[in-house]
Amino acid sequence: MSELIKLLPDHIANQIAAGEVIQRPASVVKELVENAIDAGASRIDLVVKDAGKTLIQVIDNGCGMSDMDARMCFERHATSKISNADDLYALRTMGFRGEALASICAIAHVNLKTKRADEELGTEIVNEGSTILSQEPVMCSNGTSISVKNLFYNVPARRNFLGKDTTEYRHVMEEFLRIALVNQDIEMTFHHNDEEIYHLPAQGLRQRIVQIFGKSYNQRLVPVNEETDIIRISGFVTKPEFVKTTRDQQYFFVNHRFFKDRYFNHAIINAYDGLIPSGKFPPYFLYFELAPNAIDVNVHPTKTEIKFEENQAIYAILRSAVKQALGKFNIAPTLDFERESSFETPPLKKGETVKMPEIKVNPDYNPFKSDAGMKSWESKSDAAGLESLKTMYADLKIRGEEEEASVDRFVDRENVTILSAMDEEVEVERKKPVQLLEKYILVSVKNGFLLIDQYRASCRVLFDRLMAGDSGERRSQRLVFPESMEIEKPDLPLWAEALKQLNKTGFELELNKSVLEIHAVPVDAGDKNPVKLLHEIVSSYKASEQESDLDFSERMALAMATSLAPKAGTYLSAEEMNYLVDALFACESPQVAPNGKKIIARRSIKEGDAKFLRQ
Ligand code: ADP
Ligand code: MG
Repeated sequence: MSELIKLLPDHIANQIAAGEVIQRPASVVKELVENAIDAGASRIDLVVKDAGKTLIQVIDNGCGMSDMDARMCFERHATSKISNADDLYALRTMGFRGEALASICAIAHVNLKTKRADEELGTEIVNEGSTILSQEPVMCSNGTSISVKNLFYNVPARRNFLGKDTTEYRHVMEEFLRIALVNQDIEMTFHHNDEEIYHLPAQGLRQRIVQIFGKSYNQRLVPVNEETDIIRISGFVTKPEFVKTTRDQQYFFVNHRFFKDRYFNHAIINAYDGLIPSGKFPPYFLYFELAPNAIDVNVHPTKTEIKFEENQAIYAILRSAVKQALGKFNIAPTLDFERESSFETPPLKKGETVKMPEIKVNPDYNPFKSDAGMKSWESKSDAAGLESLKTMYADLKIRGEEEEASVDRFVDRENVTILSAMDEEVEVERKKPVQLLEKYILVSVKNGFLLIDQYRASCRVLFDRLMAGDSGERRSQRLVFPESMEIEKPDLPLWAEALKQLNKTGFELELNKSVLEIHAVPVDAGDKNPVKLLHEIVSSYKASEQESDLDFSERMALAMATSLAPKAGTYLSAEEMNYLVDALFACESPQVAPNGKKIIARRSIKEGDAKFLRQ
């Protein structure tokens, strides 16, 4: 019998190992730029084409490599940075274990030009899939230029796995920012598809943040400074009135390295102490410095988590430093948030118990007060949906004729009370929908009742309508006074992408350089603030990126639906509930929300009876 065990050829082993270090173009950017920093460069240029799928080039003016080193650097475990395992723990440079270049050249076409200052000529190496094709002397400037082309050209499965250009571009941008935000003393440029995205001179930290995220940051930043025996913390947090709907501007660095940490993030949120509503995130840029042996450097280069020996003490120091900073700058809560229920709920004090929620009816509040919004509910149930609706109702018998003619807009108080008490009188009123906890709609049906999640139901209805509207006519309401908003540079490609889709669904938006002009919004937007609404849509669109089984327009429709749908806590009149229920059952899949969540719970009378029989 022949032997089964084989040694993998080097190039295959390299390809496999490469998968660990290099997951996407952004990983290449990270490795190359970090090498340039380790080489002591004072200027680094990053040039990217097609989000890095076609080209990633990093040019530095650092120490360069000798002919021999240039050849060596592509070998696995070739590194000038450590010589034994202990070195890893004292490591202050970015590099780790001499794997990056070996990995990159296993899965791409790599061209390296490098020259040391004390040599006349540099050397150029052409490399393809772990094989050095040529090495020749070349005239070039001091430092190193590495270009990586056709990433994953020989690993089609991985190449296909890459996201759309906009997705990969955002990862590249994020990697660039994580490095730029902690190397403000290095001049850095970033070009994408021949366009200059950033040219950041060597500058102070505040200036760098402002240059990256926009002038408005100058007045948003609040400096944090704290020095103790175990840690030095510096950097900036932002005033509470400038919170964002996404977490993507929250940066921690330790000893010059970006990391993520939920626990410390909590310390910061805690320091804001009720100044920000839940679901909103303050941008921050915080830099920790501590003895290298007080942290467990995670030797895996792609991980962003780090273990701190004294994390509880650091938590306390961080929290008080941020609190102090916010206090020092006399940040009075000049808050101007849209009314948000979570914000009005004070945090629980120690010893306090949670009260059972009560059924509340606010007969004066009507979220659909604009006529436009009202009509839009109506229009769905008339045409195509009507047939299916009729059949639906023939079975469900939710509405009687008298309901059709009903003019009273509000559920009256008694009915709700009766229902909540689960009295037998429910029987009499069962044809009327009832809102429970401003969250569910209760409708009686033959032999039982349905509990409908109002938010999910609205999402389903809006989503279907938006998807249908993709081809059909769009319903806009023009703004009397067009609004405009400034888009932050890192987000520009995302907005450019979102724009096309948004314009198909009732928005009328125009992007001029970095200013977005809003001329019209969909009728479903009612009288929501268009700027806030757009931010909400785009951030939930961003958040849904992981759900890869949804295509672009579905994700956008989902983001719009979730942003436009009246949230739990919104009072609905009987009329509105009826519209919603009608529209829901006119949908093809009324049972599940577009994100897969259940919309309707059905209970039979028998089930209800069974619960009482035993009593
Ligand atoms: P590591 O950074 O972990 O040492 P890499 O594979 O990233 O491993 O790089 C291997 C070696 O190549 C480095 O240790 C360094 O000596 C050399 N090197 C890589 N990039 C550069 C650069 N831009 N300038 C000078 N030397 C470089
Ligand atoms: Mg390296």
